[in-house]
Amino acid sequence: MSFCTHCGNQISDGALFCPVCGVPAGSAARPPYKPLYEMGDPEDVRENGTLSLFCYLSILLIIPIILKPNSDFVKFHTNQGLVLILFSIIANLCFIVPFLGWAVGAIADVFAIVCIIIGIVNACRGMKKPLPLIGKYQIYKY
Ligand SMILES: [Zn+2]
Repeated sequence: MSFCTHCGNQISDGALFCPVCGVPAGSAARPPYKPLYEMGDPEDVRENGTLSLFCYLSILLIIPIILKPNSDFVKFHTNQGLVLILFSIIANLCFIVPFLGWAVGAIADVFAIVCIIIGIVNACRGMKKPLPLIGKYQIYKY
């Protein structure tokens, strides 16, 4: 049994990739491998992980950032939550346009709900993992 050099999770012998973060296992993979995302600082996650879930619950995202403005983990997920809110606003503006706008808006709303679930799962796992497609944008400094 060995441990992932990236997230510290246990990896079974012979496994090529970490089952949690997907980083290649073993010494061969160690040179400049850049993971797709980082893990939060374990202490930060333990303290603020649960609080960070609120970042994905629309306006409730003000709670974690007011309570823990200095937590890197909270700041990361606050940015994700803000991007998601902005996306939802744009998605709902689509409904102004009949037919095509309704269809686009409906798809975008479903995507936003999926992002809420993904974001909460990422926060639960202590991951600083951007949301699909929209998570790469930065509107709040972290
Ligand atoms: Zn890992």
